[in-house]
Amino acid sequence: MVSRVIPVEPFDLIIFGGTGDLAKRKILPGLYRRLAAGQMPDGARVIGAARGEMDASGYRDMVREALETFVPEEDRDADSIDTFLALLDYVPIDAKGEAGWPELAALVRKDVVQAYYFSVGPSLFGDLAARLHKHEIAGPQARIVVEKPFGHDLESAKALNASLAEHFNEDQIYRIDHYLGKETVQNLMAVRFGNMLFEPLWNAQYIDHIQITVAETVGVGGRGAYYDKSGAMRDMVQNHLMQLLCLIAMEPPSRFDPDAVRDEKLKVIRALDPVLPHHIVRGQYDALGEEPSYREDAGDPKSRTESYVAMKVHISNWRWANTPFYLRTGKRLKARASEIAVVFKETPHSIFDNEAGSNRNVLSIRLQPNEGMNLDVTIKEPGPGGMRLVTVPLDMTFADALGPDVEEVPDAYERLIMDVIRGNQTLFMRGDEVEAAWAWTDPLIEGWQQRGEVPKTYDAGSAGPEDAMMLMHRDHRRWREIKP
Ligand code: NAD
Repeated sequence: MVSRVIPVEPFDLIIFGGTGDLAKRKILPGLYRRLAAGQMPDGARVIGAARGEMDASGYRDMVREALETFVPEEDRDADSIDTFLALLDYVPIDAKGEAGWPELAALVRKDVVQAYYFSVGPSLFGDLAARLHKHEIAGPQARIVVEKPFGHDLESAKALNASLAEHFNEDQIYRIDHYLGKETVQNLMAVRFGNMLFEPLWNAQYIDHIQITVAETVGVGGRGAYYDKSGAMRDMVQNHLMQLLCLIAMEPPSRFDPDAVRDEKLKVIRALDPVLPHHIVRGQYDALGEEPSYREDAGDPKSRTESYVAMKVHISNWRWANTPFYLRTGKRLKARASEIAVVFKETPHSIFDNEAGSNRNVLSIRLQPNEGMNLDVTIKEPGPGGMRLVTVPLDMTFADALGPDVEEVPDAYERLIMDVIRGNQTLFMRGDEVEAAWAWTDPLIEGWQQRGEVPKTYDAGSAGPEDAMMLMHRDHRRWREIKP
């Protein structure tokens, strides 16, 4: 199989916040990689727009340094870097004032695709949208890309949606969730809807339960004060885990088209039952040696914000009645691992006498590290020792089968930025999806606040609080091991 790079149209990509951390770590390295892969069309330009005073040459120097820091040496090529830097320009701009806007208006071309990446805090989204309109910069092919967090609750998300909708149509707004840009997340849809094998089994009759885990080893460190206003529920569950849940649980869309897919995802969110208080466990990591506790990191010895949350969720529809979804995410856990595990039911009757343990099939979809998919199947242990059964993983990533020529898996940001240029919104959240997710999340958070709930403490480097283990044990199930 030969690698295939699908060309995109010439574009102007304007990065508001082009000198920030996200631009340096993800957006600019991602664009460089697309250029190195041969996907950057002639006539593409990338314009940084941020508060710092500098000229184009100063910006190129800054970006060169960012590439040297954030692109591994083996992926750097001196000629490609020079070609990439030559595409760059820079405009000092103030989102909250008029400085820089006429200069930007003079620079941006109206006859190509324009992508405005809002890589700034959400408090500036409305200002940017309004000034793009006021200075008549945005042409008919303009798109805007907005980063998380998209609101803090339903009310603020509605206000953000309204401020963008004043000047842009929904089909111009790309709300990014980089989890959706991951190769295996898309592979999940291919496996579900491109094969006959799985979809007939994809329901409560055959699936015992589903686990979604996003575990991190890092604490909140330097962003403790910021994180303390949000917590794991807002920072991870409302967006990333909810999006993964939707892709696993949704009905087959009629077409693989943005609105058909997003309509089905929205139905999942709307079918979520409110979560019972005893089906949620919240936690905060404890100190470990020199490493501070969550409360120390947050700078508040009485903080009640969770750095960990685990919950049992039900979807009220025919497909999923009585199949629980267990979600968990946390910081300072034993390994960095994100995984979706679809745990099938046991066979109804065993014909083998000496069957050891469970013979459940588990489809595991690993998002990071080592993106890939495995199906645990039960087979006979090879050898003459009678009919002994073992469970072995069947690698469904098929990297070997696709051969050495297959293009290296692009980073989620690269893929998503190219989707913006192509005008494909399938992997971006629609406004109503985001609002529905907040509408489900808000009452849970309000409940904790009203009840004055204090999160359980858990050991740094562990799998989370003991109560989260009990949440599973009560249902005679267990969490999958968190392993790198
Ligand atoms: P940052 O603080 O490093 O950079 C902010 C950028 O915004 C700078 O370029 C700054 O010049 C510019 N800016 C600030 N005020 C401005 C104004 N009034 N006018 C014009 N430009 C202004 O922030 P960041 O980490 O790059 O994050 C940007 C956004 O992306 C935030 O909303 C953040 O929540 C989100 N985000 C960041 C990451 C990440 O890994 N850094 C990940 C996910 C989401």
